[in-house]
Amino acid sequence: MTTIFTRIVSGELPAAKVYEDDLTLAFLDINPASRGHSLVICKPELASLLDLSDALLVATARTTQRVAQALMRALVPDGFNIVQNNGAAAGQVVFHYHVHIIPRWAGDAALSPWRPGSADQSQLIADAALIREQLVGGSV
Ligand code: AMP
Repeated sequence: MTTIFTRIVSGELPAAKVYEDDLTLAFLDINPASRGHSLVICKPELASLLDLSDALLVATARTTQRVAQALMRALVPDGFNIVQNNGAAAGQVVFHYHVHIIPRWAGDAALSPWRPGSADQSQLIADAALIREQLVGGSV
């Protein structure tokens, strides 16, 4: 299925573009959480972070930083959030990898933080071990 973002990449749909290179495209979100809310996408139609090659990971990270730097200079917010949703349960609506850059001004209510829970230390240790077991070639 062709995603709405692939249709923006191809030029079939319009977008307020801010940056483009061979692998990535950045444009303003059509329903912004704050002024300047930008999306950085990888051009290939890949659904989530889990699908990206090393080259695409580097390219999207680099574009995210470049656009964030430009946003900070252009609109002078006090900070910004990076949000990246993977899966419907996590709030992903467009299944084409993208990073949200959400400019923030002190005191705004653009984004709700998560609700911190309380951790059981033995559960943390057990979960960390489970995750480490799945990391091929990693060491902690
Ligand atoms: P997510 O929930 O992470 O999948 O976010 C998808 C984002 O894409 C939402 O913030 C939408 O407002 C945004 N969006 C959807 N269609 C368009 C479009 N045609 N142009 C710009 N942003 C869009």
